[in-house]
Amino acid sequence: MKILAKLSLASVLIGSLSCGPTNDLEKTKATVSQQTIKDHIYYLASDEMRGRDTGSPEILKAADYLADQLQSYGAKQVPGADGFFQKVPLRKKTPATAGAFSYGGRDFELNKDFIVVDGESGNFNGEVVYLEYGLESDYENAEVAGKFVFAKVGDGENTDRRAILQLSREKYELAREKGAAGLVEFYSVPSLPWDNLGRMFNRVGITLDQSANAFSTDPIIPHLWLKDMDNANQRFMMTRSIKRAELSIEGMTNELTGDKNVLAMVEGTDPELKKEFIMFSAHYDHVGVGPANAEGDSIYNGTRDNAIGTVTVLSAAENIAKYPMKRSALFVLYTAEEKGLLGSRYMANNPIIPNNEIVFCWNSDNGGYNDTSISTIVGLERTTATPFIKEANVAFGLEAVEDQSGMGLFNRSDNVNFARKGIPAPTYSLGFREFDDEINKYYHKQTDNPNSVDYDYLEKFFKSYVYASRLIGNAPERPFWVEGDPYYEAGKALYGLD
Ligand SMILES: [Zn+2]
Repeated sequence: MKILAKLSLASVLIGSLSCGPTNDLEKTKATVSQQTIKDHIYYLASDEMRGRDTGSPEILKAADYLADQLQSYGAKQVPGADGFFQKVPLRKKTPATAGAFSYGGRDFELNKDFIVVDGESGNFNGEVVYLEYGLESDYENAEVAGKFVFAKVGDGENTDRRAILQLSREKYELAREKGAAGLVEFYSVPSLPWDNLGRMFNRVGITLDQSANAFSTDPIIPHLWLKDMDNANQRFMMTRSIKRAELSIEGMTNELTGDKNVLAMVEGTDPELKKEFIMFSAHYDHVGVGPANAEGDSIYNGTRDNAIGTVTVLSAAENIAKYPMKRSALFVLYTAEEKGLLGSRYMANNPIIPNNEIVFCWNSDNGGYNDTSISTIVGLERTTATPFIKEANVAFGLEAVEDQSGMGLFNRSDNVNFARKGIPAPTYSLGFREFDDEINKYYHKQTDNPNSVDYDYLEKFFKSYVYASRLIGNAPERPFWVEGDPYYEAGKALYGLD
């Protein structure tokens, strides 16, 4: 009796000394506060941040702010990273102001006949080599060093404009890697109007250099699209066996922006499960400053898109640094999402924590909301984490629903770069069932201000995100794609499952 009494007294003492929350729900409630959420959002989406545009001084300031917060929570630098950062080789490029291109006695006019997609000012004169589509397989037995590679646009199969542009970029990087002097693509795609292309490339643009030596001073070789709707230019080249081409470009400048992804980690507590990382990610860039609206406001503050997503990741970091989970946590904030998911693309292709150690990517991104009774999870039903996400929402009076907008949102945020690698990667979003006028009132507009959102709703939304995170990070089984998902096989290959 006495011993028992002593024991129970001891346990009461231990209980009251260590006090604090004992389960994931209590731990979530213990750190997520409306005031903290509000403070972060008001800062990141302030006019002072000028819309956090990629390549702007303000986005670098935002990066420092985020790193400071992560550090203050006690999250650690990721070994192999550059402090709390990963530098991203983004290049700000200005368009050509003049140029000339010719081969076989044919002269082409800048913008009317050819567009300079990439490159730098200078004169180029070299041998030509024709490589069908300019894909990896077309380089077999080809001698391209110091030569202009000519190729048809696309791959002869895919006609989707986005795919063609993406492929064009990959071909360019390949030509650069192979030591070619330049890449010229014969353009013949009706789905991509020539004038639109001109507008797309003849403006100050941000480009991601994917090559391993992206930070070196390697020449930025010219990349042209040559208008050739009836394939006459291509035939001319083939039938006359043209040997050389000449090009001059003026006015084109290139400059690395200094942009960076921000990252930190918290090690897991379980000796086995800590080898598995849950990645918490969001983009912190937005679209900067643009045309003014009727009220004279020209700053696109990006509160919903994506100060809120950024702060959900901060919230998770604060919570998990204080109460580590069994699994390890990796927190990543990307730059250049608005320029084409570039910060996340770079990280997925140049990972600091190997992709096969990241078992779940819990991305957070927002266009807007029009329903404060729900959270919308893009890809909710595509992974086995569904029950945890649903349970976490119910705990805070929300309902988790799958995206039903039919807008292909899964492929339009940073999560997709990791999904393609095989990592289960849904995106947590503010509540909407359809992308209607209420959302468009703020989406990519000057009105997306921090005083235009409902913080009572945000508090529930944030707590649901953090609670779901904890349930996933502490679960005995790691989440995976549901069978039959388009990325199911990629996942099995990534993790070497059966
Ligand atoms: Zn956006």
